Amino acid sequence: MTDGSDVPSDLWRRAADLAIDYRRRLDGRPQRAEQDFAAAASAWSMPTPEQGSAPDAVIAELARLAEPGLQASAGRRFYGWVIGSSHPVGVAADWLTASWGQNAGNHVASPAAAAAEAIAEKWLLDILRLPAAASIGFVTGATVANFVGLAAARGEVLRRVGWDVERDGLFGAPPVIVLIGEEAHATVFSALQFLGFGHDRPIRVASDAQGRLLPAALERALAAHRGPSIVVTQAGHINTGAFDPHAIVVPMAKAAGAWVHVDGAFGLWARASAAQADLAEGVDQADSWATDGHKWLQTPYDCGYAIVRDSEAHRRAMVIAASYLPATASGERDPSHFVPELSRRARGFATWAMLRHLGRRGVGEMVDRHCRLARRLAERVAREAGIAVLNDVVLNQVIVRMGDDDSRTAATIARLQADGVAFAGGARWRGKAVMRVSVSGWATTEEDIDRTADAIVAAWRAVRR
Ligand SMILES: *Cc1c(COP(=O)(O)O)cnc(C)c1O
Repeated sequence: MTDGSDVPSDLWRRAADLAIDYRRRLDGRPQRAEQDFAAAASAWSMPTPEQGSAPDAVIAELARLAEPGLQASAGRRFYGWVIGSSHPVGVAADWLTASWGQNAGNHVASPAAAAAEAIAEKWLLDILRLPAAASIGFVTGATVANFVGLAAARGEVLRRVGWDVERDGLFGAPPVIVLIGEEAHATVFSALQFLGFGHDRPIRVASDAQGRLLPAALERALAAHRGPSIVVTQAGHINTGAFDPHAIVVPMAKAAGAWVHVDGAFGLWARASAAQADLAEGVDQADSWATDGHKWLQTPYDCGYAIVRDSEAHRRAMVIAASYLPATASGERDPSHFVPELSRRARGFATWAMLRHLGRRGVGEMVDRHCRLARRLAERVAREAGIAVLNDVVLNQVIVRMGDDDSRTAATIARLQADGVAFAGGARWRGKAVMRVSVSGWATTEEDIDRTADAIVAAWRAVRR
């Protein structure tokens, strides 16, 4: 045992070796977890330890227990959900973050963490081409980023009609109308629920065949309501990758006095790419945006960004005041002013490292490459009889159906996952079972895509037989 003043260098080297070894072996192993939850729970099951164990034994045991149940999300042919693949630079920065043991609550608890967030905020706004005066809360993910953006929205639209929701709460407040595309992500409805809007009360606006908000439907919904209002749009549908037509709907909503919040968990990164610029046009005219670092920017989990144009509204919704917390009279930035938490991981370090490593150009090129690879995959699988690509592949998402049949699509997904060459999951799209392929891992190459397309076709042929 070390006595606390020593750096247990063997322990940390051992952990690094285990990590390096895991990443080296990842490409050669099935691109999925090898254990399901039941098997993992049984392997992990043991009585509460009465005696402690030596540090190196604990770390060795942890790795041994975890590995079979680790999902291959960091793998090159992993296309499940929309999961970024924890780039080595981000992971290395995150190792340092943990070893530094910083509390990123305020600028005194960690001047470096507060400063890294301040510069990463500037860079993010620049690369995403959002207003330079906007503020960013570094949160766990887009779920909480949606919560923060909508909290700022709630506070501001009520403040405009003379109600202080931060002080007085929602009881007795003028009703706020929330208009949201019917294809919004489930987590947005959760955020609305947390904020007292309920998940069923918002008015759902009809969408087109790709899941995009219909401007005429939004126009009708806006005209039918008076009073404080919030419109929630989407940049990047989880199945189709489609964007709401922001260039039309944002000005329409703002002319009606609404606050516009954009859920752009992965899609907002299209703004970093010149090739995808058309898709993301008009997004910057909104009032708040939610996006993730741990999806397209490839930071390790967890990392999301709550971005608000009006930083005063952002701060009013989130600030925590207490006598023992430092004042920020001379322009210092307290990370906790923009997020729900006080004590918090210093997410700015990994964000800084990924942006410093990729640069504006690298981020844009990665987004472009993933979009190109998604189109390549779609073209390849669609050549096979019985396979249909159901979406316009406008971004990095491809949804595929086999034999126009739910059960055969499900069987093909199961077969693909069992083969282990590549991993894609399932979803329902417009009432039909689909295979969902999200190209979002930094290491995925053209060769990986071709192997993946072959694996999907082979799985389908085996099912059809
Ligand atoms: C992933 C995702 C979310 C939720 O983000 P988390 O990082 O999982 O909290 C919200 N909206 C969309 C469109 C997403 O893809």
